[in-house]
Amino acid sequence: MPILRQIAQLGHPVLRQKALEVTDPGLPLIQSLIDDMLVTVVEANGVGLAAPQVYEPLRIFIIASRPNSRYPKAPVMEPAALLNPEIIWASDEKVKAWEGCLSIPGFRGFVPRSTKIGVKYLTRSGALREEEFNGFLARIFQHEFDHLNATVFLDRVESTQELICEKEYLRMFNSAD
Ligand code: ZN
Repeated sequence: MPILRQIAQLGHPVLRQKALEVTDPGLPLIQSLIDDMLVTVVEANGVGLAAPQVYEPLRIFIIASRPNSRYPKAPVMEPAALLNPEIIWASDEKVKAWEGCLSIPGFRGFVPRSTKIGVKYLTRSGALREEEFNGFLARIFQHEFDHLNATVFLDRVESTQELICEKEYLRMFNSAD
């Protein structure tokens, strides 16, 4: 049975170390980690979760976009685990949007990200996939990919003026709707 994992909070060194390649996706340890991450991301109302965020410095993340209380306008998709992901190309066109992070509760930052990316990764069964991501999914990918390289969204904001508390973010969102 999958178990809920604790989420590392900013300041824990695991978030600031480069994650290691997964050499064998088929290992039971890797498969159960993925199962645990899939239940943990849903429970935490996240749209993505990287293995270092659950204290495992491995190159694995989950993308699990769907509307929830933290991201009411997120697109719906089947949750997926991505192993050893790489960004092959990224559009020069970038757009800023508000981002949060389960490891940095209570804050949102206005983060520039490429609008389109071309990526490759292994699925949890070890199959190589090449794919393009746009918009919100491209944003999640870039955010989670950063976690594998010891980077968090705070490192990407252009000014501390573009950091706000989640409570104010939700107020802004609700009034704009
Ligand atoms: Zn994060």
